[in-house]
Amino acid sequence: MKLIRDIGIDLGTANVLCYVEGRGIVLREPSVVAVDKNTGKVLQVGAAARNMLGRTPGNIVAVRPLRDGVISDYEMTEKMLEQFLKKINKFTLVKPRVIVSVPSGITEVEERAVIQAAMEAGARRVYLIEEPFAAALGAKLAISGPEGRMVVDIGGGTTEVAVISLGGIVTSSSLRLAGNRMDETIAMHLRDLLGIKIGERTAEVIKIKIGSILPFEDGRERDMIISGQDVLTEQPKEVTIQSEDVRQALQAPCEEMVIHIKETFKKTNPDLASDIIQNGILLTGGGGLLSGLDRYLSDKLEIPVWVSETALTNVVMGC
Ligand code: ADP
Ligand code: MG
Repeated sequence: MKLIRDIGIDLGTANVLCYVEGRGIVLREPSVVAVDKNTGKVLQVGAAARNMLGRTPGNIVAVRPLRDGVISDYEMTEKMLEQFLKKINKFTLVKPRVIVSVPSGITEVEERAVIQAAMEAGARRVYLIEEPFAAALGAKLAISGPEGRMVVDIGGGTTEVAVISLGGIVTSSSLRLAGNRMDETIAMHLRDLLGIKIGERTAEVIKIKIGSILPFEDGRERDMIISGQDVLTEQPKEVTIQSEDVRQALQAPCEEMVIHIKETFKKTNPDLASDIIQNGILLTGGGGLLSGLDRYLSDKLEIPVWVSETALTNVVMGC
């Protein structure tokens, strides 16, 4: 029996996923660490730490160490990885080989930080794979041929756009605007419109439950009761919100994504560009699941866009 199992890690800004050879996806946790400010000790990682976001007493802080796509908090990233690797690698003494996905266009310094973090966390060897490339592999896109393909991966912190051909990335760009920004614009819009203050977790729930960028295909609008605080009095407040209002809030971030994708497309050479127009764009990442986003992008870009059914797991499967 083979004891040492190689591990693939999707080190995302919102979620970390681990795949172990022969066992499948064994870990899926939010990329959050809770630490005691006084002692520096890690109290929780993943889902348990996430529940503490925005709710922690004075001495505890819950942080997202990869908030903006790359390691913004190196020490925390390392501690988080260490805990996750411990969880999945309990019974083996031999250190695993690990392949980690990183945003395309990360600097050498950032690359070294990821490698270092994975080594410190207990890997024997560390390999890196570019995220959009892993996403394309995971979505089973045919990428070894000369035909150009475009992948748009909308995560929590970043939107990655890449053109792939002959098994490599030809052009890529990363925008620091994705799912988190959608949550922020929802929270701001509801504050201005209804005088209610909500946290980022509530905003995310709203987005996933009733968020959309185009009217729903069944033609019905949705509503939802939410609770928060009154902007002026800070008293508890409950209101019913409409999906139209949430849609309004999502216009600005989605428009910015369109501009960004267009810019990347413009930088693509004409032959690959016509392949992309023919083959369409693969939309992936959790943010890509926003209702109507595939149709919206298709309309705005005038290129077919299809959203992957396995948007949340493509990267780790690709790893
Ligand atoms: P990352 O790769 O950066 O860790 P993910 O690909 O895991 O990010 O996607 C996380 C983002 O996707 C979050 O902002 C989350 O709110 C968003 N998300 C997840 N599911 C949905 C959904 N059904 N509709 C809209 N957004 C979603
Ligand atoms: Mg991702």
